Amino acid sequence: MSMAIRNVRIIDGLGQTIERGTLLVNGDRFVAVGGERDVRVRRGTPTVDGRGLTALPGLIDCHVHLCLGGDADVVGTIRDEEPALTLLKASRFARLTLTAGVTTVRDVGARDHQIFALKQAQSAGLVPGPRILAAGLAICMTGGHARFIGREADGPEEILRAVREQLAAGADVIKFIASGGVLTPGTSPDRPQLTQDELAAGMDEARRAGRRVAAHAHGAEGMKNAIRAGAHSIEHATLLDDEAGELMRAHGVFMVPTLSALATTAACGPTCGVPESAVTKARSMKARHEASFKQALRSGIPIAMGTDAGTPFNYHGDNAQELTRMVALGMSQMEAILSATASAAELLGIRELVGTLEPGKLADLVLVDGNPLKRIEILQDRSRIAGVMQAGRFVSGPLADSQQAAGSKQ
Ligand SMILES: [Zn+2]
Repeated sequence: MSMAIRNVRIIDGLGQTIERGTLLVNGDRFVAVGGERDVRVRRGTPTVDGRGLTALPGLIDCHVHLCLGGDADVVGTIRDEEPALTLLKASRFARLTLTAGVTTVRDVGARDHQIFALKQAQSAGLVPGPRILAAGLAICMTGGHARFIGREADGPEEILRAVREQLAAGADVIKFIASGGVLTPGTSPDRPQLTQDELAAGMDEARRAGRRVAAHAHGAEGMKNAIRAGAHSIEHATLLDDEAGELMRAHGVFMVPTLSALATTAACGPTCGVPESAVTKARSMKARHEASFKQALRSGIPIAMGTDAGTPFNYHGDNAQELTRMVALGMSQMEAILSATASAAELLGIRELVGTLEPGKLADLVLVDGNPLKRIEILQDRSRIAGVMQAGRFVSGPLADSQQAAGSKQ
């Protein structure tokens, strides 16, 4: 089935903006994207009038945890909750994420392998949600950060086995914990975790299987270990130093800043319920994190958008807050959009499928009322999202409702 969107401002994810453009969709793909004179729309093609709206590629969040719900003590929740309840909640979080214009997520750490069931249910059309690329359990050392959503392993051989377990369960990406963290009590973010040999053994195995590797690292030493071992992205990169920055640039390693994670935890008051150790760590690192982001931006390190959604008060569906935060720290609106579309698709290795509005790509897009190149924060306003299209179908927003109504009349 064909569909056209006309009179719409198009941000194509290639750095171009077309005023009064036309998008033509056939089946699950874009077949034409261009100015109104460049795209021929056949008479009778169902058409959406995009006047006043901006179309941009469906957003991609490179760092979420669908098994966490943004409550104050996520570690305690996971400890006390039935896994089946976690899965049901994750399905709801996936729907909220989609409603916010996020059509693809990378889930970089779940409490168990049920995340792959959610991925299958979404891709089979059984539940609404973003397309999911998932890591399964994060791989960490015994007693290490993120062990509440991790597989503890020590020594190259056991790490290798842990990687193979995730691959066997269906992992699209492998996540390693290369430093301490904020939320796990007793771990120091500035201290490295797992040795470079352990990381290299695991990352080599992931690469042999053709998978990408994401490494959690706050401290510079953990980042360097992970980069030298072959990581594709450094998650957080909070305490970047010159050497780690230079290594990232030289190896083309992405920074996934997750500014929202530290900011939401650091903003938490004394009675908010977040364990005090986590608030103290987040507060002490927030300014350094922002400086590291600016350093990465200045020095040309590739940046892909990720929120760490699911961590305390960092809610699924609020994902676009990360773009506002990046713009507040000096990124242009266009750069922020690219980090959440084309660059994110490149990091995830799915650039030929999604991330730009181009003929041949899957038709994933967001239609927003207004111009996010003037005010990026409009992407956070659910009432301005006129439609979210995924693989050629409006799946959320008023346009999805009217499409459904039209379908039921036929
Ligand atoms: Zn995370």
